[in-house]
Amino acid sequence: MPAGYELAKRIDRSTVVEAGGARFGDGGFSLIGGPCSIEGADQMERVATAVRDAGGAMLRGGAYKPRTSPYDFQGLGDRALPLIADAAEHAGLPTVVEALAESQVPLLQTYVDMIQIGARNMQNVPLLRAAARTGMPILLKRGPAATLDELLCAAEYVLLEGNERVVLCERGIRGFDSNTRNVLDLGGALRLKELSHLPVIVDPSHASGRRSLIEPLTLAAAAAGLDGAVVEMHPEPDRSRSDAPQAIDCATFARIAAGVRSITGALRGEASRCFSVL
Ligand code: PEP
Ligand code: MN
Repeated sequence: MPAGYELAKRIDRSTVVEAGGARFGDGGFSLIGGPCSIEGADQMERVATAVRDAGGAMLRGGAYKPRTSPYDFQGLGDRALPLIADAAEHAGLPTVVEALAESQVPLLQTYVDMIQIGARNMQNVPLLRAAARTGMPILLKRGPAATLDELLCAAEYVLLEGNERVVLCERGIRGFDSNTRNVLDLGGALRLKELSHLPVIVDPSHASGRRSLIEPLTLAAAAAGLDGAVVEMHPEPDRSRSDAPQAIDCATFARIAAGVRSITGALRGEASRCFSVL
């Protein structure tokens, strides 16, 4: 039986994906920070400044929110896009925003640097193709009950459009214990690196659902040698209009970024010691 992902499968090199100046898969650990939902200009300015000052690589924010309940905040929609674009421009950061529908792709193309395909849409083939055809980098999140092969087949749809700019994201899979929102599959994320040449990052926010776990899970991913993390943060976390329990504050984001730097620095030191022995 064919693997189903000829173009995504591991080859003798790793692909580096560049998104508005941020780089994934070059041996570093790229941190994306920003709120679950874009709520206003002041919120976005404060978060963008904090991400930039901490040395983060990219600003995130949801405009079209895929909420479980139709009664929950659905995002500001189209009018959120200039808010994130302006804040990011002032801070000098690139941006990533999720597309929920094909119709949103052209507007995203004019306002952001990277398109996110969310967990619920991982196998939405028309959306994958429409996003891929922009030629923009794609942040492809693993569905909460998707196998690694299914995720790689979804990536294959993008690659088949001639777009190799795909970053895979492990964002937690469904477990049986509601103490954490999902289960961060770190082993699965590492296995993806064995199976594919594409960069792999984690989302500890949707994986754990708890702000106390974001820092240690991000540092674990950095220590494991993965390519980055996307973290939900808010200047006033308890006031977040969505996913407040998993939102960290700006000071915690800065501490995580510093922790990541010391881990990646130590790993590089180890590697250079190994090479000098060889
Ligand atoms: C998000 O990143 O805003 C999001 C909704 O994540 P996921 O698709 O992983 O649930
Ligand atoms: Mn969220």
